[in-house]
Amino acid sequence: MPVPSFRLDDSVALVTGAGSGIGRRLAIGLAETGADVGCLDLPGSDLAGTVEAIGSTGRRAVALPADVTRAEDLAGAVATVERDLGPLRLAVNAAGIANAAPAEDMPPEQWQRVVDVNLTGVFLSCQAEGRALLRNGGGAIVNIASMSGTIANRGLTQAHYNASKAAVMQLTKSLATEWCTRGVRVNSVSPGYTATPMNLRPEVAERVAQFEADTPLGRMATVDEMVGPTVFLLSDAASFVTGTDLLVDGGVTCW
Ligand code: NAP
Repeated sequence: MPVPSFRLDDSVALVTGAGSGIGRRLAIGLAETGADVGCLDLPGSDLAGTVEAIGSTGRRAVALPADVTRAEDLAGAVATVERDLGPLRLAVNAAGIANAAPAEDMPPEQWQRVVDVNLTGVFLSCQAEGRALLRNGGGAIVNIASMSGTIANRGLTQAHYNASKAAVMQLTKSLATEWCTRGVRVNSVSPGYTATPMNLRPEVAERVAQFEADTPLGRMATVDEMVGPTVFLLSDAASFVTGTDLLVDGGVTCW
């Protein structure tokens, strides 16, 4: 048997959160490994920068200004990708938000907004993408969860975020089992502390030294380091991998 391919040549992908941080780097990384990419983020985000970077890899890209909490936006985004790039086969769901408040003081609206974007947004994204993948004969989805779905971050009061990410991991397993006999694999990647705009938030930025001390590898990840694990899970090299969570955390969860 030949060595399986770790590339995504000539497949069509959709990436949410593609205007910033991990999602942007993953959208470009998918293009670098051969995919054409629909790039989804909120209206007003810098999707043009992502599309331009993908263009310089020689692959095609389309900007999809949309909100992952709106099912109609996601249906429209999938339709645009399929019209402009071809049948959808791959998806990465990286759109997310984070903030903090002590649990005893957290207003219900703050809890609900994080759950709406980080959990319901991933479900609605998977639903729109999954409908296309099932219709097209199969494919693969990677949801960006977090090590915060496995551990509670030392010093961060973010019960809503941590709970939303644990739920993404269980959502991933549930969808994997629903769609496994129809050619669709669903996995999650759980980054550890990663240098992105999300970690420039004031309550987080002052803790970077602590994050590095809590990480056996002694530093935060770069966004580049999320590309290999995500491409692996999307590729044929992972043809027998579904419903799993791949921690990319520099060893945080070992301690
Ligand atoms: P980021 O730079 O803030 O990127 C997240 C992107 O998602 C932003 O462009 C954001 O737009 C967009 N977004 C937010 N709400 C949206 C919505 N309703 N619809 C569409 N797009 C929306 O953050 P990041 O660090 O790259 O995070 C990417 C993913 O990795 C998130 O799911 C995050 O939870 C996860 N993660 C990050 C870390 C880390 O250390 N950075 C660790 C573990 C997991 P706005 O900027 O306009 O809000």
